[in-house]
Amino acid sequence: MITVKGLHKKFGQLHILKGIDLEISKGEVVVVIGPSGSGKSTLLRCLNLLEEPSGGEITFEGESITTKGYNINRTREKMGMVFQQFNLFPHKKVIDNITLAPIRVKKLEKAKAEARAMELLRTVGLEEKRDAYPSQLSGGQKQRIAIARALAMEPHVMLFDEPTSALDPEMVGEVLDVMKKLAQKGMTMVIVTHEMGFAREVGDRILFMDQGVLLEQGTPEQVFGAPKHLRTREFLSKVL
Ligand code: ADP
Ligand code: MG
Repeated sequence: MITVKGLHKKFGQLHILKGIDLEISKGEVVVVIGPSGSGKSTLLRCLNLLEEPSGGEITFEGESITTKGYNINRTREKMGMVFQQFNLFPHKKVIDNITLAPIRVKKLEKAKAEARAMELLRTVGLEEKRDAYPSQLSGGQKQRIAIARALAMEPHVMLFDEPTSALDPEMVGEVLDVMKKLAQKGMTMVIVTHEMGFAREVGDRILFMDQGVLLEQGTPEQVFGAPKHLRTREFLSKVL
């Protein structure tokens, strides 16, 4: 589904991604771990061209999206993204947060968009919040709405950048449960997280990034059970 070849990203003099090669298959759940500042967010943001790569190639469903002049908008619709900060529209009700993009971008009829939004609210367990405003929701509920909103565009892949890092500890589980359910339904997912238990349980593959390099990857058993690199072992000894 996604192929990354020799991806580089520089911010001025700073060389942040130093030649990333990566393939993500349909239905795969890939979890990216690594120290703060290692380039995990930058990698995720390059996948949907929120950051413009400085070199290398990214293909999505067979099309090179890094070719000059490529229209990324259609592709972005197929990539849902969930951030640490939920970025809900504060002046819009939950239902309108979810239906906005399908109505505006996909030209879905309002009634259809709302019916679909209610299904998604059921999926994330928040049907009763249909008419609430974001300020009336807990952090965990906001993040579940953000996930529902991303799903409303019927993305082919979901990108998560530390979706539980801004949450109080007691709300982490409810968000991870929604993500687990998505994974079980076969959604292709790329997840940056520090939740190692979740990574181990839900990840098909773990990527360890360090200083802009994809240092190690493998199944959870391989990476958590028998890490090859000293840097991976050091990192895991701090977070496990
Ligand atoms: P991670 O998500 O693994 O913590 P990031 O991808 O956010 O790492 O950042 C990697 C490095 O790139 C950091 O040193 C960060 O300061 C730098 N960086 C990220 N975005 C920018 C930017 N827009 N301009 C300059 N430097 C940036
Ligand atoms: Mg980050």
